[in-house]
Amino acid sequence: MARRQPRIDLSPKVSDEVRKTTCYMCACRCGINVHLKDGKVAYIEGNRDHPVNKGVLCAKGSAGIMQVNAPSRLRAPLKRVGPRGSGEFREITWDEALDLAVSWLKPIRDTAPEKLAFFTGRDQSQSFTSFWAQNFGTPNYAAHGGFCSVNMAAAGIYTMGGAFWEFGQPDWDHTQLFILFGVAEDHDSNPIKMGIGRIKARGARVIGVNPIRTGYNAVADDWLGITPGTDGLLILSLIHVLMQAGRIDVDYLARYTNAPCLVIENPGAADHGLLLRDAAGKQLVIDRDTGDLVPFDRAGVRPDLTATHQLNGRTCRTVMAHMADKYLDPACAPEAVADRCGIPAGKIRALASEIARVAFDEAITLDQPWTDFRGERHESMTGRPVSFHAMRGISAHANGFQTARALHVLQILLGTVEVPGGFRFKPPYPKPPEAHPKPHCKTQAQCALNGPHLGFVHGPEDLALKDDGTPARIDKAFTWENPMSAHGLMHMVISNA
Ligand code: SF4
Repeated sequence: MARRQPRIDLSPKVSDEVRKTTCYMCACRCGINVHLKDGKVAYIEGNRDHPVNKGVLCAKGSAGIMQVNAPSRLRAPLKRVGPRGSGEFREITWDEALDLAVSWLKPIRDTAPEKLAFFTGRDQSQSFTSFWAQNFGTPNYAAHGGFCSVNMAAAGIYTMGGAFWEFGQPDWDHTQLFILFGVAEDHDSNPIKMGIGRIKARGARVIGVNPIRTGYNAVADDWLGITPGTDGLLILSLIHVLMQAGRIDVDYLARYTNAPCLVIENPGAADHGLLLRDAAGKQLVIDRDTGDLVPFDRAGVRPDLTATHQLNGRTCRTVMAHMADKYLDPACAPEAVADRCGIPAGKIRALASEIARVAFDEAITLDQPWTDFRGERHESMTGRPVSFHAMRGISAHANGFQTARALHVLQILLGTVEVPGGFRFKPPYPKPPEAHPKPHCKTQAQCALNGPHLGFVHGPEDLALKDDGTPARIDKAFTWENPMSAHGLMHMVISNA
């Protein structure tokens, strides 16, 4: 006897209105459709027409509904009425709250605005909080960056004009080898998930470098279980092996990077270690065709990676020569770092070999004419189909800046930045440090600060120091001790206070 199956509505209508907006639960900014029922948020789904996520929604994005529906959320200002720590609060009106805040803050602003330290968590509204703090007049402001990926952002911008995540992404269509360093699944969640899905579907390899094998590392084709905090050693060792084997993109380095730029060697003098520049501030190289000292960006120049130059008794060698000195040092050899990284030297050499094979033996050519920054036209693009992604796992610790910087140097040495199959920036990046604001710290009673708090120093004159040379900020950001603090050093506030 045939049994009748129940009819189940698999897509019940849950809303009477749908609003399209952007998820603010992380910096990916996925497109979402917010379903409203009787004016209340009933359900959030991914927007299939949005270019970032194409309908995919992560668990954190789904949980965004709790921002407006959670019974525990704050709905009014609360005033503490019991002893600190007792948890005793009562709701007050906004007028009462604002009057109270003004009674605390106005005397400070009227006399010494720097006495207010205003540090915020990850609120996704940093532009408003920094605007408020700047107009209050205190230099003591930063948001969560010091706890998070500021090392990554600062290292990326100083090294190549941008870092990972919101700055750019792998060329998912052409990359053949994708290597992740220290990436948790909540970081760049939907774009990376979708990208890994795409490259695995066409047989490209994924390698995870992470102390634990969960999430992305669990679906990787290979996994290197590294000792926490030693990623920088592993990366420098990869660079060592690749340089020793001559498996770096010398043509790319000479044409498109500052590797051929000359560095002044003048021990004990103020200009020791600075790039040699002309009167207009342009970095200088030696032209291989003429032997002349010329600005790096002159049309038709063929920069010499191995040049030396004598100038008023000072010797100048190229950035490339200094890199060779550093990275060919036996201290960077796999055998010297293996024990600290927890990865056998043979495994490090095998990884370097795989990277080199894909980058150089499986290079791709796209018949796409383009014009470089010197105005030279090229009929095709050479692609090195190796790409990388890294996040807070390698950057949120004391050597995070140098670790992230080493990874960008590896990308550059391989010639995998801004090429097919490699890492591709998203507009407006790449942006050099000179295109970003500088930090400001000059205070005056009853006045706004003299500019944005946070930024990128270009030289000693940009440091946030008082007239006597002591730190102007409570977190000691932008000082001789911490010159490249970018988003501030929120993690230092409590200990410094
Ligand atoms: S990845 Fe997730 S949390 Fe981030 S914007 Fe997209 S849906 Fe929101």
